[in-house]
Amino acid sequence: MRASRYLIATLKETPADAEIISHQLMLRAGLTRKLAAGLYTWLPMGLRVLRKVERIVREEMDRSGAQEVLMPAVQPAELWQESGRWEQYGGELLRLNDRHGRDFCFGPTHEEVITDLVRNELKSYKELPANFYQIQTKFRDERRPRFGVMRAREFLMKDAYSFHITPESLDETYQVMHRTYCAIFDRLGLDYRPVQADSGSIGGSSSHEFHVLASSGEDDIVFSTGSNYAANIEKAEAVAPAGDRPAPGADMTEVATPEQRTIDAVAQFLSLAPSQTVKTLIVKAEATEEGEDGGLVALVLRGDHTLNEIKAENLPGVASPLTMASDEEIEQAVGCKAGSIGPVKLELPVIVDRSAAHLADFVCGANREGFHLTGVNWERDLPLPRVEDLRNVEEGDPSPDGQGTLEIRRGIEVGHIFKLGNKYSQAMDATVLDENGKKAVLEMGCYGIGVSRIVAAAIEQNHDDRGIIWPEAIAPFEVAIVTLNAHKSPAVMEAAETLYDQLRQAGYDVLLDDRNERPGVKFADMELTGIPHRFVVSDRGLAAGTLEYKGRRDADKQDLNIEEALPFLA
Ligand code: ATP
Ligand code: MG
Ligand code: MG
Ligand code: MG
Repeated sequence: MRASRYLIATLKETPADAEIISHQLMLRAGLTRKLAAGLYTWLPMGLRVLRKVERIVREEMDRSGAQEVLMPAVQPAELWQESGRWEQYGGELLRLNDRHGRDFCFGPTHEEVITDLVRNELKSYKELPANFYQIQTKFRDERRPRFGVMRAREFLMKDAYSFHITPESLDETYQVMHRTYCAIFDRLGLDYRPVQADSGSIGGSSSHEFHVLASSGEDDIVFSTGSNYAANIEKAEAVAPAGDRPAPGADMTEVATPEQRTIDAVAQFLSLAPSQTVKTLIVKAEATEEGEDGGLVALVLRGDHTLNEIKAENLPGVASPLTMASDEEIEQAVGCKAGSIGPVKLELPVIVDRSAAHLADFVCGANREGFHLTGVNWERDLPLPRVEDLRNVEEGDPSPDGQGTLEIRRGIEVGHIFKLGNKYSQAMDATVLDENGKKAVLEMGCYGIGVSRIVAAAIEQNHDDRGIIWPEAIAPFEVAIVTLNAHKSPAVMEAAETLYDQLRQAGYDVLLDDRNERPGVKFADMELTGIPHRFVVSDRGLAAGTLEYKGRRDADKQDLNIEEALPFLA
């Protein structure tokens, strides 16, 4: 590729709204441009990187025996209603209507679509196990899209789904996928760790996340210094067995009198460690006496500090987000006036996304305000451990397996593998005939990789103050040839063209920087864009029969005889 005919969209200034280094460098190096919140265009230079990541993922998935398919990005609501997720998925699901008013969503993930395919296509245990994958655009209406493509709304994912007749067969493929992911992240040249993750409410027995280590990561991951133990923080905290917890929806009056409803007591009632996060809380509240203070309503609806968002669809007539709704709207929705509420019954799913301590504070606050909470229900990703079995995991703690102490690092989740069991196959009646000719519900696993997130994660790990330093395997170009004064010197241009041809014939991706720009500009651009190898062709060098070489990580440049250039790279 000739730089004079290529979009080198580098920027001198760091864009103001880019908080982390990868986001800054992706914009500055001209890899991506923002269209709207969480939506990015990949420019030619960035797309080359994305495609290289994709190719490595595809090659290793093919090697593992998985079969590539491509499913539609837009999915009919009926499938999501069958699995129950049309109701459950919440705000991240982008819902659409076609011209006939039919409901669709833009797929945030594809369990329903693949399960539908498999129940129609596979009939016999003899066709199993089978593992299908795709590399496809997903849409998740993230609450806080940020950090560029790291947490985008539209992003590229490799997702795979395996189907089995026995849990043992699922185990086997799960292990194959674990090894395949290690092979992928090894080839990508990233410093990563597989960690245990919670398999949560889905009921599967096993789950691992793959994290790229970086201080900007949004997740805490916990390692043992003395063993192979590694887990994400939620898993590390949730060491306790299910035990005899209160059932979801249990009566709040179990927590003694209102005065005794301290934060700790409520946290304990909810069976949460104070530091754990609850995503959705369903508050059932009742005020039966006339004139009772509308404290809860105030707390819930006026944007109390523990609450970020209330699902507006539960209060028809109220605009979203509720915290911005007017008094009139709120009063209309709950059917009475604020301050003189009652009798009223509320059942509100409240997205809290806050720690149990905050949550308990909210619950106590509601009681102080004169409201009786009659029930609290919750939805969260993790099984609820018993509070007495929990502790906050801290750096230097002994580890869960008794070997070594704990080290806590930040990680970027780039992959996630999961045993789903029969959650989807049961709900959607995906069966095959087993050896005895009987219907058997399929066992299922799913395996995701954030292809576009990997590009950003790689930059978080590989950069300096001059720009990106690509791992060779995913560099947009492996070699840059920079010409000096070529517009006045045919000899320079000719030598550069010869080297360009030689390198390309040897299979390298080469960018010939033939732009009529000052040398400083060209050098800065090649460093910013992170090209691993750079040759400089100049009159002065040619007179001595040499080229200048500098590796992107090298401190110094060196002169090579012209004939040495090609063997030097090999
Ligand atoms: P996160 O915890 O970061 O929100 P997730 O657990 O919701 O991710 P999964 O459902 O496990 O994501 O999806 C598989 C992979 O897709 C993730 O491991 C991650 O690499 C990638 N991914 C998820 N959400 C995004 C996003 N908003 N932008 C870019 N990549 C994403
Ligand atoms: Mg997510
Ligand atoms: Mg996650
Ligand atoms: Mg995940």
